[in-house]
Amino acid sequence: MKITEIFERQKRTFSFEFFPPGDYLTAVKFGINAGQLIKLYPSFVSITYGAGGCTQTNTFDLVDLFHNELGFTCMAHYTCVNATREKIAYDMRILQDMGIQNVMLIRGDKPKDKPLVFPNPDGFNYGSDLVKFVRERYDFCIGAGAYPEKHTEALSLKKDLENLKIKIDAGADFLITQMFFDNKYYWDFVNKAIQKGIKCRIIPGIIPITNFKQISKFAELTGSTIPKKIFKKIKAYQDNPKEIYKIGLDLAIEQVTDLLENDAPGIHFYTLNKSRVAIKLYESLSGDFKDVKMLYEKSLTPHMPAP
Ligand SMILES: Cc1cc2nc3c(=O)[nH]c(=O)nc-3n(C[C@H](O)[C@H](O)[C@H](O)COP(=O)(O)OP(=O)(O)OC[C@H]3O[C@@H](n4cnc5c(N)ncnc54)[C@H](O)[C@@H]3O)c2cc1C
Repeated sequence: MKITEIFERQKRTFSFEFFPPGDYLTAVKFGINAGQLIKLYPSFVSITYGAGGCTQTNTFDLVDLFHNELGFTCMAHYTCVNATREKIAYDMRILQDMGIQNVMLIRGDKPKDKPLVFPNPDGFNYGSDLVKFVRERYDFCIGAGAYPEKHTEALSLKKDLENLKIKIDAGADFLITQMFFDNKYYWDFVNKAIQKGIKCRIIPGIIPITNFKQISKFAELTGSTIPKKIFKKIKAYQDNPKEIYKIGLDLAIEQVTDLLENDAPGIHFYTLNKSRVAIKLYESLSGDFKDVKMLYEKSLTPHMPAP
């Protein structure tokens, strides 16, 4: 099912993002964690590509498993950094043949191990180029990335929003945001995007804080601001995992509740492949679950393998 079809039936979507495990042990842990999360009947699940050094094959295998064997509406992330048009076309055909209907098209970050090809004579330089290429040739529902505090490379939020509009006009159907910890950034961004003529759903991407060092690193890499009050609080408990977990969960519940109460079109959970905190957070949001479950049961039927 296309995610845009789910939008027609759900005012809000709840989705979980996973990344492919890198080795045998993390694969086992991944199975346990993902198994617990998918019992919550998400609107869709998404699998990252290339992030954290995972291979493309792992992403496609996992997408295949979630979509064709487990019956979930699944979105495959795909990046174009350093890729040729030929490779992109080949990969899109693989996803299409697998029955995948949703792709998250992003540029990708500069590779750590290889030099960046920029400008890329045989491929693309920006997410919007990739979106245009795929929109013109394939029948996917297309998601793309958005940055409430601007992308780290952008000279200004204004410029970043202009580039975002190009991405929407190129054919992106909806947006998922980079993580943020202060909802003020999200609402300011949504309002500015609307003023620019961006009318699609902008789904907030949320990451619960469970580890001080990890979240500080993520925030630095992505340019996401951790409000001083929160930073002070989590820093004070950085060597106390239980307390950080509790504080992080409470903060995330507060953030997500505020977003939903103010009519955000759902939540995309950056799970980091961890189930406990995502489950607790999701469970805290009573109310909308029944709709999600009904939809899941309907969407599940056609995909399920024969007993
Ligand atoms: C929801 C989400 C999912 C992600 N999933 C992954 C993943 O699976 N794997 C992974 O490796 N990374 C992932 N990322 C990270 C992403 O690859 C990086 O943030 C990347 O640096 C930007 O990709 P983009 O397509 O969103 O940016 P782009 O839209 O390409 O923008 C990047 C920069 O270029 C500028 N720009 C855009 N268009 C133009 C133009 N036409 N001319 C001049 N400047 C322009 C923008 O203003 C911005 O500063 C994800 C990010 C998000 C928000």
